[in-house]
Amino acid sequence: MPSAMVAFSTFLAPTSLKPSTSLPSTTTRRNIKPNALPFSSSNAFSARVHAYRPLRIRAIDAAQPFDYESRVAQQFHDAQRLKIAIVGFGNFGQFLAQTLVRQGHTVLAHSRSDYTDEARKLGVTFFHNPHDLCEEHPEVIILCSSIISTQHVLQTLPLHSLKRSTLFVDVLSVKEFPKNLLLHALPSDFDILCTHPMFGPQSAPRAWTSLPFVFEKVRIGDDDRRIERCEKFLNIFEREGCRMVEMCCADHDMFAAGSQFITHTVGRVLEMLMLESTPINTKGYESLINLVENTYGDSFDLYYGLFMFNKNSLEMLERLDFAFEDLRKQLMGRLHGVVREQLFHNAGIGKGQSLPDDYGYKLLKKGQNGSAPVLSLPSKEHRCSFVFQIYTIIYLPR
Ligand code: NAP
Repeated sequence: MPSAMVAFSTFLAPTSLKPSTSLPSTTTRRNIKPNALPFSSSNAFSARVHAYRPLRIRAIDAAQPFDYESRVAQQFHDAQRLKIAIVGFGNFGQFLAQTLVRQGHTVLAHSRSDYTDEARKLGVTFFHNPHDLCEEHPEVIILCSSIISTQHVLQTLPLHSLKRSTLFVDVLSVKEFPKNLLLHALPSDFDILCTHPMFGPQSAPRAWTSLPFVFEKVRIGDDDRRIERCEKFLNIFEREGCRMVEMCCADHDMFAAGSQFITHTVGRVLEMLMLESTPINTKGYESLINLVENTYGDSFDLYYGLFMFNKNSLEMLERLDFAFEDLRKQLMGRLHGVVREQLFHNAGIGKGQSLPDDYGYKLLKKGQNGSAPVLSLPSKEHRCSFVFQIYTIIYLPR
């Protein structure tokens, strides 16, 4: 023990003063010379200390065998860590893994395809065989396969190799389907947490701040350890700044059909138009291009899953179709009106007379097919004039 810097405290007062551990009184650090230490009972200074202020060494300024504070911090950190297995290590599985690893969790993965190299780069241990994965006894299993393959993937997992209390989490973009599936397929000992992180590698490649994380605690055992484990898992997303939304799966699907499914549908329609940036982009047009960028990277399986496994999606698709048709009718109706007016005016037909209701529309359709409309109107002179005017309305930009 270095003798140069020694600290003393009056906090504890032992009944007897042992020479090897007891030193003169002081409440501050001070330099002590070895020959000033009270190893001899004949030392007057020592006697005075013994009589009035027996002391014990509380701390020294030399390096400690361990740093208490950092040990406590480490223990706390370890207690927050989970052993998490990701099943389905595709686009979204790898995206999630980055954050889990960064937060210090132990991450294992399994997928249909071989992702050994990708996993290694991310600090994840990859298992080709689901048995090997389950025998590692992860505390949490995240189901991250495509919506349409999840039932099959779950059936291939050797559940008997897992600990009985394992927490199953799904991140599927639809919620009622996996909830029913997990309740049906998993033994009652397993915990179930249904979640939907409402962002992905396209929409949130860097940060998740303020982005919604929807969850329903479908079945969490009531002992403290299980409750704490579920909270630790949710804390992963809280720590990233997500907006935590506890919501039942049925409500999620209702809202998601009106928002997410419509977003993906419109994004895919726009993608088909192959929109390109122009030198005169408006803000609105920029948003459309962003929408395409946000949705084009997602697989068609994901989009198909949103449609097939959310009972509200079909209705939304029909409403979208209806709205589009309605809008088109409004436009065509106006155009029809303009054409009729022109026809009547130029034909000199009085108010009492009229052409058939669908006359103008048929005329337009004929014109739209690429051929100039041919009219059977009173005179040849009028006919030529009408053909020219209709042609102008349809083909020339105003
Ligand atoms: P995805 O196309 O929905 O799913 C791809 C994953 O499914 C891959 O891991 C793939 O495994 C696996 N898979 C597909 N067919 C399979 C089959 N027949 N058997 C076994 N595994 C199969 O794309 P994703 O974006 O990665 O989404 C994964 C899950 O996360 C989905 O449930 C999705 O709804 C959800 N999610 C995605 C996002 C997002 O932004 N992308 C956001 C929130 C939630 P292999 O790669 O090994 O073939």
